[in-house]
Amino acid sequence: MVTSQTADVVVVGNGVLGLSVAVEIALRAPKTRVAVVGPTGRPMAATAAAGAMLNCFGEVTRYTDRHPVTRARFALAREALDAWPGWMETLADLAGPAVGKALRASYRTGTFVLLGARSGHVAADNFEAMRAAAERYDEPYELLGAADVDGLAPRPDARPLRVLHLHREGAVDARAVLAALEAAASRLGVRLVSGTVRELLAGAGAVRGVRLDGDGDTLTAGTVVLAAGAAGSALAETVLPPGAVPPMLFGTGASLLVQRTTTSGPGARQVMRTPNRAATCGLHVVPMADDGHQYIGATNVITTEPITGAELGSCHSLMRQVCEQFDHDLAFARVQRLMVGARPVPLDCFPLLGPCSLSGLVFATGTYRDGFHCSPALAPRLAATVLDPAVQDTDLQWFTPERMPIAVLTPDEALTDTVDHAVDTMSEQGMQLPFWVDGTPLREWVRRRIERLHEELGQPLALAPELIYPQFLAPKSTDSSCAATRLRRYLDAARTHYAPRLDAPARVSC
Ligand SMILES: Cc1cc2nc3c(=O)[nH]c(=O)nc-3n(C[C@H](O)[C@H](O)[C@H](O)COP(=O)(O)OP(=O)(O)OC[C@H]3O[C@@H](n4cnc5c(N)ncnc54)[C@H](O)[C@@H]3O)c2cc1C
Repeated sequence: MVTSQTADVVVVGNGVLGLSVAVEIALRAPKTRVAVVGPTGRPMAATAAAGAMLNCFGEVTRYTDRHPVTRARFALAREALDAWPGWMETLADLAGPAVGKALRASYRTGTFVLLGARSGHVAADNFEAMRAAAERYDEPYELLGAADVDGLAPRPDARPLRVLHLHREGAVDARAVLAALEAAASRLGVRLVSGTVRELLAGAGAVRGVRLDGDGDTLTAGTVVLAAGAAGSALAETVLPPGAVPPMLFGTGASLLVQRTTTSGPGARQVMRTPNRAATCGLHVVPMADDGHQYIGATNVITTEPITGAELGSCHSLMRQVCEQFDHDLAFARVQRLMVGARPVPLDCFPLLGPCSLSGLVFATGTYRDGFHCSPALAPRLAATVLDPAVQDTDLQWFTPERMPIAVLTPDEALTDTVDHAVDTMSEQGMQLPFWVDGTPLREWVRRRIERLHEELGQPLALAPELIYPQFLAPKSTDSSCAATRLRRYLDAARTHYAPRLDAPARVSC
């Protein structure tokens, strides 16, 4: 039998963003009836697979200071860096003694960023951009030698050339945060509904609620917060016109939870990571609570369609690199769990945040690879928007969900950068050319493939290098012609939707 229930606010999605927004709303307006809908077990949720590094400066790349939109995103990450210690305490108090204790125990500060001998130009540029940003914003840091890093034991040919220590940046256990958010939400009277939303409901220019899978039960509400991670744009399409919102891609990431053996020593005591590298995120080891457990992350394979599970090849590469570049003794650690989640990656790589033209619908998604870290900066802002729709948060205006994809690079710049990323990735993965061959033929091969993609799309497009890599340069991973067809369909729809407001062709980049 189909049932219908009512709430003031329905949050679609039970990841870190959905739950944090729900807790913030309940804290600010205890009488508001809030329901969070999401499947038990969270299959393929990004939050559940995340290393939960709380990195702001550690995520800086050569693009961070390039454009007002990249600076706006960085400003939110800095705000989150300041907010985490207080937010962690609030959450631990709200969650109750046992869950709060586990959360506090998992929180640690200190991040070593390692520029390894096998890094390419992209990683080296990102490392230098990180150091320059720390300097400019007076962020405490030190440049150290490899011998200063506790637990670092790489192969001799993979020792770091440079080490940057970020004192305030660290990590927390994502699973402990989820448990604390759920406990806090329940104690604050938020209803946690186990289920999956099939479609959003709308009428007369306003959102009306959601319909669930299964019997088609409905939850009516005047406000719906869309926090369904990578599934967000498919749900948005049930009520918004095609092309209105940049499509969400799926940044599938695998990570491992391992237990060190007693003979292999304690290993890393603080986060160890590389800068974000060519075509992927940084390699990292995160020590968990002091019982020998460590988190190893992460792969990043971006596709236009969801995939389940992780490629053996990318997992193999992750395991090999972490042992060779960080700690050989990790080869003896026991794998306890393989975790896989899909990062929500909008086509232009910028988040989708805040209200849209459908009254009552608020987006809280598209955070790609730092949504965990940014959650204490985003949740209060989004809660304020939900509780008072007249509030216009100017710091979020770049991220308005209804937009043409944001352009940071020109298509030519993106093409050159993608070639750099591709060649760096191949050498970081161990490629060695004979001495009489330089990289030119490889660069030409990558360039030709991207130009062919532009032909298929009917226009040059400044896609971020990491979006190109798996789909169009490693075509056995995905069906690249289907991906191109999907992109072209979206671009046609977006041009039609925004035609009256456009005076330039679409250019997207990250
Ligand atoms: C391997 C990996 C490592 C990462 N490491 C870091 C890191 O170190 N630091 C960092 O800041 N970020 C990291 N990230 C990114 C971070 O995890 C994300 O930015 C963030 O967790 C996104 O949170 P979310 O709540 O928007 O999405 P999700 O966590 O994906 O949550 C969305 C939820 O919505 C639910 N859902 C989906 N469809 C529906 C539906 N139809 N109805 C109801 N519910 C639905 C899903 O089950 C899921 O629980 C990492 C991601 C991955 C995959």
